[in-house]
Amino acid sequence: MRVRFAPSPTGHLHIGGARTALFNYLFAKKYKGTFILRIEDTDELRSTDESVKSIYESMRWLGLAWDEGAMPDGTEKGAYGPYVQSVREAQGIYKKYADQLVSEGKAYHCYCSTAELDEMRKKAQLEKRPPKYEGRCRHLTDAQKKEFEAQGRKPVVRFLMADEGVTAWNDLIHKDVKFENKLLYDFIMLKASGYPTYNFACVVDDHLMEMTHIIRGDDHISNTPLQICLYKALGWQLPEFAHLSMILGSDGTRLSKRHGATSVGEYRKQGYLPETMRNYLALLGWSTADSQQIFKRGELEEKFDLKGCQKSPAIFDTVKFGWMNGEYIRMLSKAELLDMAEPYIKESGLDASASGTPLGDIVCLEQEKYKLLSEIPALIEFFFKDPVYDPEAVEKTLKKPEAPGILKGVKEIYAALPEFKEASIEAATRAYAKANGFKAGQVFHPVRVALSGRADGPTLFRMIEYLGREKTLNRLGKALTLA
Ligand code: GLU
Repeated sequence: MRVRFAPSPTGHLHIGGARTALFNYLFAKKYKGTFILRIEDTDELRSTDESVKSIYESMRWLGLAWDEGAMPDGTEKGAYGPYVQSVREAQGIYKKYADQLVSEGKAYHCYCSTAELDEMRKKAQLEKRPPKYEGRCRHLTDAQKKEFEAQGRKPVVRFLMADEGVTAWNDLIHKDVKFENKLLYDFIMLKASGYPTYNFACVVDDHLMEMTHIIRGDDHISNTPLQICLYKALGWQLPEFAHLSMILGSDGTRLSKRHGATSVGEYRKQGYLPETMRNYLALLGWSTADSQQIFKRGELEEKFDLKGCQKSPAIFDTVKFGWMNGEYIRMLSKAELLDMAEPYIKESGLDASASGTPLGDIVCLEQEKYKLLSEIPALIEFFFKDPVYDPEAVEKTLKKPEAPGILKGVKEIYAALPEFKEASIEAATRAYAKANGFKAGQVFHPVRVALSGRADGPTLFRMIEYLGREKTLNRLGKALTLA
């Protein structure tokens, strides 16, 4: 089994591309095949080196290592290279096959100018015909060709599409797919610049690189009949095709910027774990018979199967994605969570040295609640600097008539505690409430708000221990001015 991910480097790796990459990767792993990365940079205007780098980086982060292809260090791995289409173009790989098809009468030079093509399209529209190329240059004489060339026109190479018959294939996901050839068209194989178009370069490379399965998004379904016609014209064996379902936003429209972040890099920045992303992407158009949601390390590679892929669109549900990330955060060890949270803490500018408690202890206090790593700095900030008081929490707790007395009383007993530890703080606080006729909550709430600024937060007495006696007494005193 040989499969490939073939991104066009015209931007960052987005959700759809990452899902395609992942499915190819999982398929290769499952069948002990080869996963190839091919860079399809034949769009000379939109392809950039930064995009190539960004795709490499996102794939590295997602853990999608490829067995063959161009490598981030500029080298190449594999015996089917080069793996970058612009490099292949420079070696004349595509031109060779285009010339072959032209000489066999299966493709032809077309000299129509953009203005002429526009004109033809408009006319077709007016006459209610499909706006496809009508084949004006299909049968030019040598004299006509010479004349066009004398006018300085540079030809493109077009494929000569059959006018009749059907092109069909048995898609591994969409089952029987059929296109009437009369609905297909004489597509361009080589542009006037000599650069190949996607459809042509893709077929040449998929064949020469000996791909067995083409797994890609179903936005390419309409390209597949064109590609199949090319395989046939070149006398090449067809690979299997599997077109993955479309990804929609939660409103049922095609996933786009309007739905929020769309690139892998943006989700990484928000604090999704690569494991969550792999797990979530795997469920976009694929499921196990028992609808398993969370997969342990290595389990996706084992369970993935094209048979479990559906053709109906998949919904990208950010709420579910967030829930899943929380699940993955909870599975982290304390050391892993600290490791993952640290870049976000650094980025936020928080000075995490301003505490006597180890950062890992503080970060893990609310591990149960985190959905995104990027939320962590704001949630732990009060351990290191003066809290930002939530006005609603202040109103509801510190403004109560009994609050000043409670803050003063608790401050005194905390100052006198021989040992400032969770258990002793709790016992003393409860004893204070009881002795003064308060319900526990009546005491706990104002203390929490006074110390953290928030009405909710980590388990109270551990939070107080981690805060330390000095900050605790200080804040209880300061909060009196708010009460
Ligand atoms: N370069 C194409 C894309 O990014 C690849 C499509 C394919 O897999 O054939 O959409």
